[in-house]
Amino acid sequence: MKLETIKNLQQLLSTPKNVVIIPHKNPDGDAMGSSLGWMHFLNKNNHTASVIVPNPYPKFLKWIPGDETVICFETNEDQALKRLEKAHVICTLDFNSLERIEVLGEYVRNHAATKIMIDHHREPQDYADIQFSEPEIGSTCELVYQIIESLSALEQIDNTIATCIYVGMLTDTGSFRFPSVTPKTHRIVAHLIERGANHAAIYNQIYNTSTMSRLQLLGQALSNLKIVPEYHTAFMTLSQEELKKFDFQKGDTEGFVNYALTIEGIKLAIIMIEDKSEQYVKLSLRSSGSFSVNEMAKKHFHGGGHINAAGGKHNGSIGETVQKLTSLLPQYQQALHTS
Ligand code: 5GP
Ligand code: MN
Repeated sequence: MKLETIKNLQQLLSTPKNVVIIPHKNPDGDAMGSSLGWMHFLNKNNHTASVIVPNPYPKFLKWIPGDETVICFETNEDQALKRLEKAHVICTLDFNSLERIEVLGEYVRNHAATKIMIDHHREPQDYADIQFSEPEIGSTCELVYQIIESLSALEQIDNTIATCIYVGMLTDTGSFRFPSVTPKTHRIVAHLIERGANHAAIYNQIYNTSTMSRLQLLGQALSNLKIVPEYHTAFMTLSQEELKKFDFQKGDTEGFVNYALTIEGIKLAIIMIEDKSEQYVKLSLRSSGSFSVNEMAKKHFHGGGHINAAGGKHNGSIGETVQKLTSLLPQYQQALHTS
């Protein structure tokens, strides 16, 4: 983190500001935890901050402190735009290209407010006046903690802020098992627990609030699993028909793709889920080792992300998406073999 960037942030925040914080579309634990944690920190420092989400997020995140204050652009556009109008500062969290927030991105692009990016994805777009872009850090939540630390404000981390930050550090590290986890990650987590984050309760809220139909949907995804051993690849699909059959709720498919990666020898795992428009398929890609799913998602599926976790889209049916994927694999044979 550059000293100059911190100084610019410090200067900007030296007088009370009206701040809007926006996480990416389909917000996950890291997006919501970092946005709400940053909101509480700013509010504690005499700013007036609120979070606007592009669209709704899953039930397993609807308990994070401050959740009741979140404004949803998709379901409450008038209120969101009114709130946005008043902003002196717009912070975009856990993404780095305005396309990730779709229509809302145009409002941000054309807004006169000072823009701050706080993110840990690769290859940031150039829209922020103050840019924290740290792809080596495992979660945006960990980055928020490090920014608070650089502002010499760690003593302000209370139970509420600690809980928010813990959420994204937990979810974006696969419960602290990804290579992005460092000794510092654990030191931060230790401090968050000291400040009142209840790690056992947070884990339960996020991972142990499943439903019977969600587990049956997982069963369906697993029975659709295919392996392409020569390319160390495993993929699953879910059609709209299958999603409806098992009463799909937002967030239900979170984590499914990881099961494919648990098979011995598999280095690339993909889940393809038909969108409700039935016009395109959303892909979630995961890899182990050095194979970059970020590159693959960017080059072939209008997406991106990290080396080992990325997402994207393909216009067409599930069958067409599977065909596209299988036609791509030969060009990655070497990379998949050596990674
Ligand atoms: P997931 O597969 O869990 O939706 O996302 C995995 C990672 O890829 C996350 O870091 C997410 O932000 C990123 N990602 C998911 N979908 C997209 C996309 O359509 N475009 C880009 N640029 N990144 C994505
Ligand atoms: Mn993240």
